[in-house]
Amino acid sequence: MSALINFENISRLGGPELTELIEFYEQAETSELFAAANAVREKYYGKKVYFRGLIEFSSYCKNDCYYCGIRCGNKKAVRYRLGHDEIMDCCARGHQLGFRTFVLQSGEDLYYTDDMMCDIVSDIKRGFPDCAVTLSLGEKTKETYKRYFEAGADRYLLRHETATDEHYRQLHPPQMSLENRKQCLYDLKEIGFQVGAGFMVGSPYQTSANLAADLLFLRELEPHMVGIGPFVPHRDTIFANESTGSVKLTLVMLALIRLMLPKVLIPATTALGTVDVKGREKGLKAGANVVMPNLSPVVHRRDYSLYDNKICTGEEAAECLACLSRRIKSAGYDPDFSRGDFITCGEQFAVGRQADF
Ligand code: SAH
Repeated sequence: MSALINFENISRLGGPELTELIEFYEQAETSELFAAANAVREKYYGKKVYFRGLIEFSSYCKNDCYYCGIRCGNKKAVRYRLGHDEIMDCCARGHQLGFRTFVLQSGEDLYYTDDMMCDIVSDIKRGFPDCAVTLSLGEKTKETYKRYFEAGADRYLLRHETATDEHYRQLHPPQMSLENRKQCLYDLKEIGFQVGAGFMVGSPYQTSANLAADLLFLRELEPHMVGIGPFVPHRDTIFANESTGSVKLTLVMLALIRLMLPKVLIPATTALGTVDVKGREKGLKAGANVVMPNLSPVVHRRDYSLYDNKICTGEEAAECLACLSRRIKSAGYDPDFSRGDFITCGEQFAVGRQADF
C-alpha cells in the first residue's frame, strides 16, 4: 500500500488501485492526505473561500429520485415556487450583502418554461452585471441549455450522483438514466458553461468501487466544479432507515478530488455541515474552497427539504452570512466575495494535471 500513497500518482491510478486507496484511507490516519490536498488548494487559490448565494426557488419536482425529500412521490412535501420578482428580490438582497455569484437551484419544475427561465437569467445579468449566474435545474435538452447560456448563465451544476449504471438504477426510477445525465454534462461543457458534477458519499448500496468509478468519471469529464456531500436520509423516502454517509469518507473523497483536479472549485456543502457541526470547516481543511449560504426567503427554507435536519433554515441571509464568515475566518481562511471563476479556464486541460504537483 505504501507505494500507492504517493499523491503525485493519483492522476494515473486505475479503478482497482483507487478502490484500494479509498478503502485504505477509510481506515487509516488522514492528516497527511488532507494536508496534501490543502497544499494543492493553497497553491492555486491561497486561503480564499468563495461565497455563492444560493436561491432554492422551487420545491416542485417531476422526478422521483429515491433518496430525495422533494421527489414527486412524496405527498407530504410542502411545495412552493418563487416568481420572477421574488427571485430578483433575493438577488438584490444578496448583492447588497456582497454576493457576486447567484446559484439558482430547484427541483425539475416544468412550470418554468425556457422563456421564463431565460427572462430571469437575463434580468439578473442586466440588473447585476458584475455577477455570475449558476443554474442547477436538472436534466434539460441541449437546446434548452443553449438558450440558458445565450441568456447569460455562466455555470451549471448537475451532480452525476453515481458513475456506475447499476448503482444509478438502485437510486433512481427506471425512467431516469445515467447515460442521459452524463450526456447533459458533456452538452453543458460543449456549450461553454463552467460545469459542476458530483455525488453523494454513503448513498445506499454504494461500494468503494463505485466511488473509484466516480473519480474516474470526474477525471474524464474534467469539470470546473465538484459538489460532494454525505447522503442524509429523509424520513419520507424509501431510504428513511438507511444510514447517514460518513464524514470521514466524504472528506477523503474531497481530498482525493482536490489532488486529482487541482484547480477545481469544491464546496464545503450544507449536507457536510448538517452531519457534523464542524463539517464545513473540516471540508475546507481537506481541500474545499467554496461555501453556499442560503439567500432563499426564510419562510420557504424548511420546505426545500432534500434530507432531514438541514442546517441554516431559520436565519435571515445576513445572519447566515455573518455566522459563516466568522467560522471561516476562525478556521484560518479568507472569505472572498468576488465571482470566483474557475482559474484560467482551459489551461488546466492544456498543461496537463500531472505537472501541477
Ligand atoms: N434538480 C436539480 C437539483 C437537485 S438537488 C438536479 O437534478 O440537479 C441537489 C443535490 O442534492 C442532488 O444532486 C443530490 O446529490 C443532493 N441530495 C438530494 N437528496 C439528498 C439526500 N437525501 N442526502 C444528501 N444529498 C442529497
